[in-house]
Amino acid sequence: PRRHLEGQTALVTGASSGIGRAVAVCLGQAGANVAVNYSSKEDAALEVVKEIESSGSHAFAVKADVSKEEDVLSMFDAVRAEFGTLDILVNNAGLQVDSPFIDMTLAQWQKVIDVNLTGQFLCAREAVREFKKRGVRPEISCAAGKIICMSSVHEVIPWAGHVNYASSKGGVMLMMKSIAQEVAPWRIRVNSIAPGAIRTPINTAAWDTPEHYAALMKLVPYKRIGEPVDIGRAAVWLASDDSDYVHGITLFVDGGMTLYPGFETGG
Ligand code: NAD
Repeated sequence: PRRHLEGQTALVTGASSGIGRAVAVCLGQAGANVAVNYSSKEDAALEVVKEIESSGSHAFAVKADVSKEEDVLSMFDAVRAEFGTLDILVNNAGLQVDSPFIDMTLAQWQKVIDVNLTGQFLCAREAVREFKKRGVRPEISCAAGKIICMSSVHEVIPWAGHVNYASSKGGVMLMMKSIAQEVAPWRIRVNSIAPGAIRTPINTAAWDTPEHYAALMKLVPYKRIGEPVDIGRAAVWLASDDSDYVHGITLFVDGGMTLYPGFETGG
């Protein structure tokens, strides 16, 4: 891969597995130094660090629960201590706590909002503070900083049985756009990626048997499941100057899942 992120530093939240892992590795392959955030699986995070270092970039693991303000503040201190500053934030950490709406507890609602929405708010705010204070370094990048929010096709597709999750991602959409509007004058770019069905631990039940996979393909016009690297490549593009005039968008990386696949036969 081109090392066009050389000299830049990235923080990827929830980077010890799945999409976050692939994003961290792809950013490292593109030349960025990467802070690998994890919440509990230190071993897995250290493996990601090793993989990034084998591509010739620097990396380190940093523990933080993104829903806790004090954890987020100390994570940003750790990133500054290790790398001096930050250029790229990927707000990836997220989870599902599924329940029929009628039985959903306040704790189940709150947990998902806390991690998926408030966690992205806290990290984005700290990143903007750092980007604005430091400003543009033209030899490094056209922008003073880039934020990529991991949303979902469920920022637009309603999802029965997952009201908390869909609400969090709908919230991410307007949070991202509102931040983008507010910080653009400081040359900070803010965008989202909305993955469709990607093969990760969060949705094992959707692809782990041939029957489940066939059912999933009814929702995917392109007829293959997404792989984490599909998202990693999109993240590298959004983080790089190749997308310098792209601001406040959601990039859907979903094999056409948002194209109303129920209509694909025209019948
Ligand atoms: P995953 O479960 O493998 O990864 C989620 C990561 O977030 C894990 O490493 C987990 O430890 C971390 N995390 C959870 N709570 C955290 C917290 N409080 N603080 C820090 N880290 C925390 O699943 P994934 O599919 O890789 O999900 C990554 C992101 O992609 C999520 O935001 C998810 O909503 C989104 N997404 C995934 C899919 C998909 O099909 N896999 C589709 C759309 C969106």
